[in-house]
Amino acid sequence: MRVERTDGRRVSAYEEYIDAERRRRVRETAAALDRRVAHVNSTASGGGVAEMLGSLVPLLDDAGVEADWLVMDAPEAFFDVTKAIHNGLQGDADALDDGMTDTYRSVTVDDAESMPGGYDVAVLHDPQTLGMAPTLAERFPELTLVWRCHIDLTDAAPSALELVRSYLDAVDRTVVTLPEYADPLGDVPTTTIPPAIDPLTAKNRPLSALPDPPDAADRPFDPDRPLVVQVSRFDPWKDPLGVLEVHRTVADRVPGAQLVLAGAMPDDDPEGEAVYREVAAAADDDPDVHLLTDLPDAGINALQRRADVVLQKSLREGFALTVSEALWKETPVVGTTVGGIPLQVEDGENGFLEAPDDLEAVADDVVELLESPSLRRRFGERGRETVRERFLTPRLLADHLELLETA
Ligand code: UDP
Repeated sequence: MRVERTDGRRVSAYEEYIDAERRRRVRETAAALDRRVAHVNSTASGGGVAEMLGSLVPLLDDAGVEADWLVMDAPEAFFDVTKAIHNGLQGDADALDDGMTDTYRSVTVDDAESMPGGYDVAVLHDPQTLGMAPTLAERFPELTLVWRCHIDLTDAAPSALELVRSYLDAVDRTVVTLPEYADPLGDVPTTTIPPAIDPLTAKNRPLSALPDPPDAADRPFDPDRPLVVQVSRFDPWKDPLGVLEVHRTVADRVPGAQLVLAGAMPDDDPEGEAVYREVAAAADDDPDVHLLTDLPDAGINALQRRADVVLQKSLREGFALTVSEALWKETPVVGTTVGGIPLQVEDGENGFLEAPDDLEAVADDVVELLESPSLRRRFGERGRETVRERFLTPRLLADHLELLETA
């Protein structure tokens, strides 16, 4: 278990994104709280949880709540197991065998044994950390344990759900993105907090505000031709192969259309490389398909801005920060009707929504947007307002302070 350092970002820097009422609530709630909180997850970079903790933890600290970000120590074999659990919770029917649950138990117990004391609340993120709960409850009887599950559990496979439920006795509260995600968890008290994006990071600030903006000459695609982008880990649930198929239909109808699939390979996602190779083989050296890995945040930022359309063709999705990231940059999104995507995309208002298996409909939407700059502009402007109202970090901070009030 190691403490991840965060930068010293200040709540005052978010003045223009936080109205007076929320600012007052943040100040008053934080002043009344005397709590030390640890947020615990399994990777310091890559994926949505790391993205959020890098902002939330220093802001809690600045608001007056002592907060640390702790990252588990775990061998690679552990992440094979937790990815199988993650897949099971998303609906993959493969059963977990005893060897896997033993690995899960022993690594999480080791991490819980090495967690420093002195906290009042520990927020454990996702299934990777949940196994720490019983040991933490035993070591620190006064510690309030919150399990923050970012996954859509509504179609979870029984074996994965059973594993999760076997740890919930030690947990005081769960936090989920949508209320229905908690239905399979039984009667643990639950709070609903949707994720949020940080308007001040290199990923989301205007490119002109970046000290070191990406060099346009480095782009592998033609800036003068239509561009469709999906930014996602190389993960079957993000359906990169479906995105390729959509691209083929689109390219037949919109001459010169290009596709970028940008994906990171986080430490805790062992499937990334194999999926990347599968997608690269399927792309078959198509000169208008670009697979980009490990772009810096400024590069993702530039892509999301330059895209004419951002796709989020997930088959299952907890939230998809990538959707809010694109909408914030006034880029319309074509997404699927799964998990947290419809929370952000309003069909016909700031983008389009389609059933995940309806590739034709997704392609039709992309073509419609590529052919209509005025529709793209209208959706883009509305998208930015959607995010401004509901999915920016100051709201997440306020929700987490209220969580600590109840925890
Ligand atoms: N991301 C990134 N580089 C990539 C792919 C993804 O920085 O090549 C970021 C993306 O911008 C977003 C996060 O990783 O901030 C993914 O979060 P999301 O909620 O969309 O999906 P998750 O990976 O958590 O399932």
